[in-house]
Amino acid sequence: MSWDLKLHCIACDATLPPTLVYRCPDCGGILEVVRQKPEGRSWHRADFVGDDVTLGEGSTPLRELSPNLLHAGFKGRLLIKDETRNPSGSFKDRLVAAALSRAIALGATGIVSASSGNAGAAAACYAANAGIPAIVVCPDATPRGKLAQILAYGATLEQVPGHYGNAFEHAKRLCVETGYANLTTTYLNPYGVDALRLIGQELYEQMDCVGPDWIAIPTSSGPLVKGVFQGFTDTAGKVPRLIAAQAGGCAPIARAFDDGKIDVYGWENPKTIASGISDPLLGYPEEGSLTLSIIRASKGVAYAVGDTVIREAMIDLAHKAGLFCEPTGAASLAAARDLAMKGTIGSTDTVVCIVTGHGFKDFAAWT
Ligand SMILES: *Cc1c(COP(=O)(O)O)cnc(C)c1O
Ligand SMILES: [Zn+2]
Repeated sequence: MSWDLKLHCIACDATLPPTLVYRCPDCGGILEVVRQKPEGRSWHRADFVGDDVTLGEGSTPLRELSPNLLHAGFKGRLLIKDETRNPSGSFKDRLVAAALSRAIALGATGIVSASSGNAGAAAACYAANAGIPAIVVCPDATPRGKLAQILAYGATLEQVPGHYGNAFEHAKRLCVETGYANLTTTYLNPYGVDALRLIGQELYEQMDCVGPDWIAIPTSSGPLVKGVFQGFTDTAGKVPRLIAAQAGGCAPIARAFDDGKIDVYGWENPKTIASGISDPLLGYPEEGSLTLSIIRASKGVAYAVGDTVIREAMIDLAHKAGLFCEPTGAASLAAARDLAMKGTIGSTDTVVCIVTGHGFKDFAAWT
């Protein structure tokens, strides 16, 4: 794990030393990690995650699927990046492994995570292995498979009524009370977001250093979007067009994109089967604005898909590709299908869909 890094405020440009701080003390802006790329080599997991913390997250398969799975007339290439293969079944492991490594190195004695389920499962999993306590805060409506994971790994589970934003606020209070590190996986913990650049680099290298035309990404607040962007910027110097796939019942970023706005506003009454992307961004819409700016910088699109289309994509991935994912994981394929049908994605383009979470996590979605 390298210490050669700084925190940078994206709002006021302030630079800070790397401590356990989650927003800019001067202006409240989102913090990001700035670090020097290693000389003459790619990033390694060990640049972000301690040897005692890693459980082998990342290095997930990239699989080529039949182009028919995108769309009948599609003649390009369709690939999926299978993030269900991570230790706790979602890409959140990449983030949590790095955030926890940093928290332990900075002296944290426990961790707190606000989660729609997967981040909490990852936090519980990695805390168990590291031998430190974890408190996970989830909305009442969290899928039972995710709650079962959190409890199985031995974390303390607290559930709060209503949407994800309530869990976010409650976790912040718990951190103040306990002195534990906040591993909430919005943009709140800069060290977790920082490690997601590995997924971009990994994807690029798996494609023999020829990036795809499009990468579709199930998107909540957007750290995964930022990670992919950053990974390509670091290694390829050029970023594919990114698709932020949101659920029609909770689409603050896609709405702002459609309206041509720069600022994202919170979404009242989120409702979708895609629990992993059900964050309405109420209370911290600036996170959505950051993600939207990254989508635009890539010349990409933010796009909302309804639950029916998400479910069809999820079923097709299982039936036709042997990939068992949760609804959220299939939102990327669902969005890419719509965009191919509309002609936004060209008929000979190369499309990568990131499938973010495992089917074991949400059996109810299958019944
Ligand atoms: C958290 C999550 C997302 C959204 O990731 P963000 O980086 O918060 O936008 C997508 N898919 C799954 C399965 C998740 O758990
Ligand atoms: Zn600032």
